[in-house]
Amino acid sequence: MVGQFRVVVVGGGFAGLTTALALAHKRSSVSVVLVEPRGHFLFTPLLYELLSGELQAWQVAPRLDHLLAGRGVAWLQDRVTSINRQTRCLTTGSGRALSFDRLVLACGGVLQSFGIAGVTDHAIGFRTMADLQRLQHLVQWLQTHTRPLQRLAIVGAGASGVELACKLADLLAGKVLIELIEQGDRILPASREFNRQQALAALQQRDVLLRCRCRVQGVAADHLTLLVQGQTETLPCAGVIWTAGLVVAPPPLLPSPPVGPQGRLICQADLRLVGEEGIFAAGDVAAAPDKRRQHPLPATAQVAMQQAPVLAHNILASLDGEPLQDFHWHDLGEMLSLGRGHAAITAKGFTMAGPTAAKLREAVYLVRMPGAGHRLAAAAGWLGEHFRP
Ligand SMILES: Cc1cc2nc3c(=O)[nH]c(=O)nc-3n(C[C@H](O)[C@H](O)[C@H](O)COP(=O)(O)OP(=O)(O)OC[C@H]3O[C@@H](n4cnc5c(N)ncnc54)[C@H](O)[C@@H]3O)c2cc1C
Repeated sequence: MVGQFRVVVVGGGFAGLTTALALAHKRSSVSVVLVEPRGHFLFTPLLYELLSGELQAWQVAPRLDHLLAGRGVAWLQDRVTSINRQTRCLTTGSGRALSFDRLVLACGGVLQSFGIAGVTDHAIGFRTMADLQRLQHLVQWLQTHTRPLQRLAIVGAGASGVELACKLADLLAGKVLIELIEQGDRILPASREFNRQQALAALQQRDVLLRCRCRVQGVAADHLTLLVQGQTETLPCAGVIWTAGLVVAPPPLLPSPPVGPQGRLICQADLRLVGEEGIFAAGDVAAAPDKRRQHPLPATAQVAMQQAPVLAHNILASLDGEPLQDFHWHDLGEMLSLGRGHAAITAKGFTMAGPTAAKLREAVYLVRMPGAGHRLAAAAGWLGEHFRP
């Protein structure tokens, strides 16, 4: 029988916020505390539409106090700085100590610089609202400083780099030379073929210069140093946007748990850390097994959101002494934003591209927003904008 157990959730992103809401919804006798330093949730797949002004900040980055009002989750606006696994106590940046019966680590990932000189000081990431604001300032500057022709470099031709290149090309409409730099030999290595072909066409139509097999060696305020076919090259540029990788940096855990590639915490299929009874992990920070492949599950919002209900169930089951469930990921497909009003979708054998795909993508994402009230408001705002009589 569960009494007033305390579950602490670290991180209010896709995995953490969704889990906290699911837990509070399932059982009011468990106290749920969410520790998150930011004042908002961020729906990252729609960050491109926020950059272009197609969607508004209140839709894509709703305030946490609005999302949590009346939902039975206590929010501590703070950052967890250390976790003692033996005493089941954590400390926060403001010096608080918080004990827990169950802990969920859902603190996501950060930009991966690979130790390359200048990335942290001079490149702009594309993961947070602060990154978005820096990029918006750069875009404004580029729109007014068109002579001589400036160059913008985007490093990494995964989904974020490709989607951002298309959106920036539309926003800057020929005023800037945009180069997409990739060390591998092709764009979107993890994507479906239809989406990759659509993306290649979208980049070509927008005159984005794609440079594959090109390794960045250093980033400075006004140029990049590249290694191309064994030769060092200097590329002058007005700005560098870094989308090349992800690393996770959870607060230090004592004793340290086993970690996998990118520093992800190794989990069992039931989402508990290996060898742990009371600490779970989900989302980007978790290397959870994918039974169909040798690799851990991908670091995507899709995985993080699907983990939340299983995680909420397993936390309560572990408190009740009942068996835990394994998490199984259902791959729902992939949607890419490929410029203003353009997208490509591949889902369960179905493919679609163009303006209708763009509308469908936005609609699907808006109905996946956390919090029923926000979902409704965001979708209604979008409908009003797109289908005015
Ligand atoms: C531009 C962009 C586009 C994307 N598009 C897609 C897409 O189309 N589809 C898709 O499936 N995925 C997409 N992703 C990936 C997706 O955003 C991540 O996989 C997802 O955010 C992971 O969720 P999470 O809960 O693990 O982490 P996050 O959503 O990053 O949340 C982590 C939270 O933890 C907080 N935190 C960090 N450290 C601490 C700490 N010490 N104490 C307390 N809180 C802490 C952070 O402030 C943050 O709010 C995209 C990512 C980006 C950057």
